[in-house]
Amino acid sequence: MNQDGNKTANAHYDAKLLSRRRRLVQWVLAPITIIVIALGWRYPLLGFAVPIVMLTGIAGAFINGRYVCGHLCPRGAFFDRIIAPLSPGRPIPAFLRTKPLRWTLVVLLMGFMTYQIAQNPGDVYHWGRVFWLMCVITTGAGVLLAVINQRTWCALCPIGTIQAAIGGSKGELLIDPETCRECGACEKVCPINIPIVKHKAEGVVREPDCLRCPECIRVCPVGALRWPDSDKQFAAQEKNK
Ligand code: SF4
Ligand code: SF4
Repeated sequence: MNQDGNKTANAHYDAKLLSRRRRLVQWVLAPITIIVIALGWRYPLLGFAVPIVMLTGIAGAFINGRYVCGHLCPRGAFFDRIIAPLSPGRPIPAFLRTKPLRWTLVVLLMGFMTYQIAQNPGDVYHWGRVFWLMCVITTGAGVLLAVINQRTWCALCPIGTIQAAIGGSKGELLIDPETCRECGACEKVCPINIPIVKHKAEGVVREPDCLRCPECIRVCPVGALRWPDSDKQFAAQEKNK
């Protein structure tokens, strides 16, 4: 196998391995969403899972865009693993991705949360109850929006919007214009409906909402997709052999 062939095989191998690992991690994380919603009214401190995930997502955005949404968010995991089989997986309407709508939602939800906390800022249990309420409202909205697509909420989620603004251009997916044959297999498995093929001529999938998951790379039959650092990883693995 030549060098390019090796890179392709390696990219496929990594994507398959990472996809399996991601699914496993999501099966562990998804129940956290159910536990917080089911028991948070009685044990309000469980609500603190919400700011932990929010802050992890925002911090992660400085390194790799919406990676946390795609791999480590318990609600994203809940949508991918539990809701996806029940959702028709239709395309997410473009108007839901528009910036004015998304930033309005950021202001409204953050404003609502701050206002609620300000009602009793000295009580840690009150904070927990507010976070729990935010989780119930937004997860409920996400479940309703799953009549369109399991990740419709994620296209709107305020933390996702902030993450995309901070790090949406970091580590963007690359598409090889010479190799891609526009079969559309990658777009079918993309959890958040990214229009990958339209970026073929440019060679870079400039989509700040990309969740940095390995699914499109895993299914591409010709190895046309890869991460910008995959060559570096390949070189390091070759060196260690
Ligand atoms: S799966 Fe690969 S070949 Fe098919 S459209 Fe996507 S990038 Fe192109
Ligand atoms: S474009 Fe690829 S990496 Fe990005 S979210 Fe879609 S499937 Fe995952």
